[in-house]
Amino acid sequence: MAKFKGFSFGVFFVGSIALNIFFLTNNLCAGHVNKQQLSWSQRAAAEAEAVASVSCSGHGITYLDGLFLDEKPVCECNSCYGGPTCSHFLPDCVADADSGDPLFLEPFWMQHAESSAVLVAGWHRMSYVFADQSYMSQVLQNHILKVHSIARNAITKGKYLVFGGGSTQLLSAAVFALSLNSSSLARVVAASPYYPVYKTQTDFFETAHFEFQGDALLMKRTSNSTGNAIEFVTSPNNPDGLLRKAVLQGSSVNAIYDHAYYWPHFTAIPAPADEDVMIFTISKLTGHAGSRFGWALVKDEDVYLNMLKYMQLAELGVSRDTQLRALQLLKVVLEGDGREIFHFAYEKMRDRWEKISQIVSLSNRYTIQDIPPQYCNFFEKVRGPSPAYVWLKCEREEDTNCNAVLRGANIIGRLGSLFNASDRYVRLSLLKRDDDFNLLLYRLKELVSKEG
Ligand code: PMP
Repeated sequence: MAKFKGFSFGVFFVGSIALNIFFLTNNLCAGHVNKQQLSWSQRAAAEAEAVASVSCSGHGITYLDGLFLDEKPVCECNSCYGGPTCSHFLPDCVADADSGDPLFLEPFWMQHAESSAVLVAGWHRMSYVFADQSYMSQVLQNHILKVHSIARNAITKGKYLVFGGGSTQLLSAAVFALSLNSSSLARVVAASPYYPVYKTQTDFFETAHFEFQGDALLMKRTSNSTGNAIEFVTSPNNPDGLLRKAVLQGSSVNAIYDHAYYWPHFTAIPAPADEDVMIFTISKLTGHAGSRFGWALVKDEDVYLNMLKYMQLAELGVSRDTQLRALQLLKVVLEGDGREIFHFAYEKMRDRWEKISQIVSLSNRYTIQDIPPQYCNFFEKVRGPSPAYVWLKCEREEDTNCNAVLRGANIIGRLGSLFNASDRYVRLSLLKRDDDFNLLLYRLKELVSKEG
């Protein structure tokens, strides 16, 4: 009996090893065969990798649609770097902190090169419409809702979704939609300092239904009745990073909440936002400003239908290629527990803010905005500031044009008056690449050290 047991165990043992070897080799072969079986995607993948593999010394990038010289992709150098491989630092170059280009997230996407890449077939979604006859991908909508539930920054239940070509297009769509059926002119306002596009866009697209009237605070102070009004509320605000609520109240007042920066990257999330019209954008969530994709969460069905109509008449919906790209990016955002990008972005922005704050704290001539620590629904603790911009003030009486003072120190910022504020203020962007930020830090240090 014991002998038989030993024999059967031996057979079982040898058999199990044989099976393992069979499955292992089979799997390896299957992988090999699969790779060999790739056909039409191989050239595109090889081309993309060949372009990406060109070295630009860590101070530039090559792009598939960039210039080529002798069939080699040309490096597009970061600001203040030059030469064929971007290896030369240009010492007298200005620190350009003007634009809100969110390139600080580039390293995150390079770390996720494999999962974030998209290969687009020549026949990808050629139709005007999806199978359900809409202009919006249902799968992308589901991913957006999941991202909000992880970031805990918006209540999506009971809201309609509208896609736009960046939030810029949705801001305009919302003004049209909210003013379309009103009997009197809607006065469009925003509390100063405000994002300049609210004025420039409203002025440019003005119709008989609405016009831009400037500062919401001034309107509240000077008129008994606001009448029919639309208020842009930017929370957190561009330029000063403060969380905001609407200034105007009343039954004929509608607010458009611009939540471009309402992500754990840039602010504490005290509670999920639950306003009637809320606008978000991947530009400031994933950093892909160039892809032009944003969305609105809208409570009222008529407003939603009017916004959809705007999107239909303006553009027949957002490009299906853009929707595919956005979907792949959000898939990466949702990988694992879906929190990695928020941690990465918050650490980066907080570090930048702390470095700038430390330098400015040594100055008697300049101050920056004060952002109090707050409880954050995402991190589940009180957390400090990590804003997208520094709102710098020149305190000396003679420094009436702060931008000119900074320009003298080789720093380019955005003038306060563009935000309907005093020119004693300048906005400095913290969103750009490390190269840009490090140069800004260096120039600010120089400026402050010369004060004494
Ligand atoms: N709103 C605010 C407050 C912004 O700062 C920006 C971009 N700088 C936008 C909207 C526009 O973003 P998008 O790229 O989505 O059009």
